[in-house]
Amino acid sequence: MEIAAIATVLVVIALSWGVREEVAADDEKYDVVIANGRVMDPESGLDAVRNVGISGGKIRAISANPLAGKTTMDARGLVVAPGFIDLHEHGQEPRNYQFQAHDGVTTSLELERGTADVRGWYAQREGKSLINFGVSIGHIPVRMKVMHDPSTFLPTGDAAHREATAEELAEISADMEKGFREGALAEGMGVNYTAAATHWEIVEMFKIAARYHASVHVHLRYGGLKEPTTGLAALEEVLAAAATTGAPLHVVHITSMGLKYTPELISMVEGAQRHGLDVTTECYPYTAGSTALESAIFDPGWQENMGITYKDVQWAETGERLTAETFEKYRKKGGIAIIHSIPEEAARAAVANPMVMIASDGMPITGSKVHPRGQGTFSRVLGHYVREEKALDLMTALRKMTLMPAQRLEKRAPAFKDKGRIRVGADADITVFDPERVIDKATYADPLEYSQGIQFVFVHGVAVLKDGKLAEGVFPGRAARAPISE
Ligand SMILES: [Zn+2]
Repeated sequence: MEIAAIATVLVVIALSWGVREEVAADDEKYDVVIANGRVMDPESGLDAVRNVGISGGKIRAISANPLAGKTTMDARGLVVAPGFIDLHEHGQEPRNYQFQAHDGVTTSLELERGTADVRGWYAQREGKSLINFGVSIGHIPVRMKVMHDPSTFLPTGDAAHREATAEELAEISADMEKGFREGALAEGMGVNYTAAATHWEIVEMFKIAARYHASVHVHLRYGGLKEPTTGLAALEEVLAAAATTGAPLHVVHITSMGLKYTPELISMVEGAQRHGLDVTTECYPYTAGSTALESAIFDPGWQENMGITYKDVQWAETGERLTAETFEKYRKKGGIAIIHSIPEEAARAAVANPMVMIASDGMPITGSKVHPRGQGTFSRVLGHYVREEKALDLMTALRKMTLMPAQRLEKRAPAFKDKGRIRVGADADITVFDPERVIDKATYADPLEYSQGIQFVFVHGVAVLKDGKLAEGVFPGRAARAPISE
């Protein structure tokens, strides 16, 4: 009722540069007003000082004139941007959400590994989450479940090392379908981790995704430098699967798949787009990857596949670089390794490319050490690559972390049409930061440090970060989910 009343008093003003703004014409009081900030919206191109009025969790006004609010936040000197949407974050616990809020993230999505139980995954977080959350139906965990893999996060048994029987493949397919009916946002796939899955099994999975208009978020089969196990050959596999099934393809962390050939892989994604395929990609702004040391990625041949050796692998818990002996010891024990394999030029080429989205690939926090990317990705792009290195401009960077990820998902989940934008009627998921100060503080040595310079973060109009500090006792995060069809 109240919402409709507000809508009737909106006056549309067409500005000289063609940006449409809607302004409240009377003395309506908004729940929250973000005053005097530099509003940047990658969809309309608006980049000007404006006041933003929020009511009922939605953006209700964007105005050059002052707006009255029950609460007003002064954003003078700060950038007011759509909240960042992270397509790739494995850390989906309350502690991760706190780090992500400090990094400007308002929607955190686990789309690569995903889950085997979409309904249960959402139920666990409903009403208890600081920021919005969402998940894919994951080929990795489904295969682990069907093939009784003994591991919990990434496969170490049959799901990694054995071909599926016809019966198992039918069961995997049925579970994937069920996940989509339960509202999975996408299909997750990590062929490198399920190395014994046949090329045909991959095609079968793409066929299912195509039926649900879901993008397939793939960690490629290889990330190596040496034929025939190169990232390029692995990209060919999924490009062919996308082309022949019609499923949209999203290649995750293209830098750790391409390594020094990252520009070539990016050019193939661009070429596929130019020729009409729905293919996108993402990167994180670091020169190291991270995964479980016990996973199939470190099966024999890993040195050649990744173009690295023991000393390039760091045991996260202690920070030590590995030797042949410690590699064997820790692989048996199991745990997180940090892999220093990505050349800086590759990281920079991907971060600077307007077509490559930003996504953290943040890891679950199990001890005191973890890859810093889950805590610092977005601030690192804004502070290091935009401000310090001038590798790309601010609006382009914001587009890569807001509008583009929203557009990636909106075919499958129309709710994303109201995210990633500062637009009247859009969800009030908003990140307000100081462009002169924003920077990541998490490092490989001290990974559990909040980013700096993110001042206010709103999730559905509720401040989860105020003056750079977490708000207590608020859980405005909602399920980011595709329509449920059962
Ligand atoms: Zn991955």
